[in-house]
Amino acid sequence: MITINEHYAKLQASYLFSDIAKRVDGFQTNNPDKTIIKLGIGDVTKPLPQACIKAFHLAIDEMADEGHFRGYGPEQGYDFLREAIATNDFQARGADISADEIFVSDGAKCDTGNIQELFSRDTIVAIPDPVYPVYLDTNVMAGRTGTFESGRYQGVVYLDSVKENNFVPSLPMEKVELIYLCFPNNPTGSTISKSELKNWVDYARENKALILFDSAYESFIQDESLPKSIYEIDGARDVAVEFRSFSKNAGFTGTRCAYTVIPRTCRAYNSSGESEYLHRLWNRRHCTKFNGVSYPVQRAAQAVYSPEGRAQVKDLVDYYMRNAALIRSEMGGLGYDCVGGDNSPYIWINGQSDSWEFFDLLLDKAGVVCTPGAGFGKCGEGYIRLSAFNSFENVRLALQRIKEVLNR
Ligand code: PLP
Repeated sequence: MITINEHYAKLQASYLFSDIAKRVDGFQTNNPDKTIIKLGIGDVTKPLPQACIKAFHLAIDEMADEGHFRGYGPEQGYDFLREAIATNDFQARGADISADEIFVSDGAKCDTGNIQELFSRDTIVAIPDPVYPVYLDTNVMAGRTGTFESGRYQGVVYLDSVKENNFVPSLPMEKVELIYLCFPNNPTGSTISKSELKNWVDYARENKALILFDSAYESFIQDESLPKSIYEIDGARDVAVEFRSFSKNAGFTGTRCAYTVIPRTCRAYNSSGESEYLHRLWNRRHCTKFNGVSYPVQRAAQAVYSPEGRAQVKDLVDYYMRNAALIRSEMGGLGYDCVGGDNSPYIWINGQSDSWEFFDLLLDKAGVVCTPGAGFGKCGEGYIRLSAFNSFENVRLALQRIKEVLNR
């Protein structure tokens, strides 16, 4: 008899985006003439930078030519991309990361979801609330949690990210072993300072814990004093893995390219307390289960680091950040407390009411779609997330409509 992994039964059906879609469909059916403006999702709307497109085309032409055709590439990624990443994203900021510590992949979603395979089932996991759901659900699937009760999985140490701590979780009172952090944060848009991040690195070093640092939104950081990488913090190399993505900076959400950094000095421990290098374990996993990102996609990603690519990526980021600034100032002007939007594409708004009620109000009266904060965790109740990923014209129109509704 084939039996299933019963931990899957503990998973809460992800009603969030299907509920949103149902309500949006219902609204559209009842209001066929009304245009809906979607500021809910975290998907980019602008096309790939021209530098990437050019590199993509050239690489495809190479694949059409017998002399240049390439088959399977290195599982970890081509050296040209790994070198460009190490030099530009890390060494240029004083972070000691080398090309052979970079693992190129087809998404930070897969990497943040898969990494937990390296750790034992009884690992004590600390996860922020509210949170990007992948961290939580993949640990549920792996059997690292108990059942879901009163809005939370038993056995998980939740790191509340709330107004009182500026949406940066405090160190846990209990001992934890695997810590997920994401800055700039999805969904709250909050950022972490170097000194706050140093506290986490020190905690991990003192407790032989590991930090999984998701930096998928680093390109939106405008404040130069904020860390873009955890490796800007002394000692992080031994206790942190970092995830990055080309999805949000260069619009690769549909093209798929990302990477994970595992420094050669980063360790975890076996049951006898002896240390093991995670680089070796992840390399083994990656080579067994993954066959590399396609050559043209890696060439397109490399072009992000060319002078033209950099300028075009900056234009994209600036475009979305102009939207973010407008959302934040208009919602703030209406008297709502807002977080994010200054160093991130998300604005976390205290709606001063039930998340779903506020969602319905914006949809029914303004034809604007947001994401109810409660969908990201217990601490998200009362909040909504607005995303800056849309055209400036749509964002401006959405805010005009919201103002008309909320000013009444
Ligand atoms: N990490 C965070 C925090 C995200 O919000 C997202 C996507 O929304 C991802 C990772 C996924 O990135 P990718 O497109 O590289 O899979």
